[in-house]
Amino acid sequence: MLDAVVVGAGPNGLTAAVELARRGFSVAVFEARGTVGGGARTEELTLPGFRHDPCSAAHPLAINSPAFRALPLQRYGLEWLHAELPMAHPFPDGSAAVLARSVGETAASFGPRDAGAYRRLVEPFLPKWDALARDFMSLPLTALPRDPVTLARFGLVGLPPSTLLTRRFRDEPARTLFAGLVAHVMAPLGGFATSAIGLVFALAAHARGWPVARGGSQAISDALAAYLRDLGGSVHTDYEVKRLDDLPPARAYVFDTSPTALARIAGFGNHYADYRYGPGVFKIDYALDGPVPWTAKEARVAGTVQIGANRAEIGTALRAASREGRAPDKPFLITVQPSIVDPTRAPAGKHVFWAYGHVPHGWTGDLTDAVERQLERFAPGFRDRVLARATAGPPELAARNANYVGGDIASGAVSGLQVLLRPRPTLFPYRTPHPAVFICSSATPPGPGVHGMSGHNAAKAVWKRLRQT
Ligand SMILES: Cc1cc2nc3c(=O)[nH]c(=O)nc-3n(C[C@H](O)[C@H](O)[C@H](O)COP(=O)(O)OP(=O)(O)OC[C@H]3O[C@@H](n4cnc5c(N)ncnc54)[C@H](O)[C@@H]3O)c2cc1C
Repeated sequence: MLDAVVVGAGPNGLTAAVELARRGFSVAVFEARGTVGGGARTEELTLPGFRHDPCSAAHPLAINSPAFRALPLQRYGLEWLHAELPMAHPFPDGSAAVLARSVGETAASFGPRDAGAYRRLVEPFLPKWDALARDFMSLPLTALPRDPVTLARFGLVGLPPSTLLTRRFRDEPARTLFAGLVAHVMAPLGGFATSAIGLVFALAAHARGWPVARGGSQAISDALAAYLRDLGGSVHTDYEVKRLDDLPPARAYVFDTSPTALARIAGFGNHYADYRYGPGVFKIDYALDGPVPWTAKEARVAGTVQIGANRAEIGTALRAASREGRAPDKPFLITVQPSIVDPTRAPAGKHVFWAYGHVPHGWTGDLTDAVERQLERFAPGFRDRVLARATAGPPELAARNANYVGGDIASGAVSGLQVLLRPRPTLFPYRTPHPAVFICSSATPPGPGVHGMSGHNAAKAVWKRLRQT
């Protein structure tokens, strides 16, 4: 009998498997797709030689993840590549605010009236970032806080809505850039704890940057899987689990799936019936004939570029997708340009480009025209550089990965109490109604993103049980 079986080889499932195997437990992973990776994968989606990340591409959370930093992933081929700027937020007049590695450069891009306010916001947390990241990503209760005072101070600043926090700024550049950071997890700008979301992204940039993985995000998953195999674990692909009976006998089962799928597979009835899914995204992967012709020079050297003319435009786009059930006319876009630092992604002189905007849950339309009209505002001539594009709306995203219910790439709305307490309001989120069954996907804290911390935290709950039984 195996000690643990993990269902799903996304970053959290693989991390949970690695953490258990490192502690001497026998582990097998079962993955529905033909390759490991879940939301951290790389494929030639458009033309030969163009290597796209269909899901995650920018990795502020992975490089700052306490779980990943404790694993020898570099030995298994993971290499982080940094653009000159982690992120730029261009404006229609050709200027840009930036999230640079240095606080000073970032503050300066906000203009003289907001530079001091930004410094005062982030500087107290930066020297304590590593302890704070661990404490914040281990909530609730999976580890005693290392620095409870800093965590409490962070809570005071982070728990209120971002609309309150951005009142510290007087001008649009800082307010807009910060609103864009919150929108990364598709959270409504006025929602609970949205200040914390924006702050985490900003602090992550100053601490270690927002890199891409050399060769693509698949490198993260491949490194985790290779390490797991070296530790004696096994990975079985093309194996969709539909019932618990599909799995070999084990002392514990760990699900890197949505709560809905887990309830169906394990027969948990309505246990997760109150869990809410959020809006979807419409993703486009481009093969380009050259770099994106951004007007703002800062955007040309940034790994990630946020697109939204001002805070109101970003708020309108988020509301349309999350509350009004319609696709935004001017979608807020997150774009990533990995090939400006990673020559392995595209043939010489060519580029891959990654973009998505938010759409309603389950939306079946085509956002391509709206996305490209937005891009043309900030990069005139963009369309002329397009060699090929691969699009995926909510139905395609959900078909490729069952965790993205209705195209919700966060596997559950990041709003209300679900920001912190997911998939249920409990202090033991990784446990389920069955003592031998656990959940470790991004539907558990600390939520969406490639950081493996849900897997890491869940593994702790699993090994406690394995040692007891
Ligand atoms: C378009 C897009 C852009 C994103 N951008 C970023 C980004 O830039 N940075 C970032 O940090 N995050 C990003 N994310 C989010 C990130 O990818 C996810 O939060 C992360 O992958 C979640 O990890 P996970 O292990 O919980 O689940 P997943 O990565 O979704 O993995 C779950 C795995 O379980 C498998 N599975 C599900 N059900 C079953 C079953 N019944 N049987 C067997 N296997 C099953 C799935 O096939 C999948 O491989 C993005 C996601 C998408 C889709």
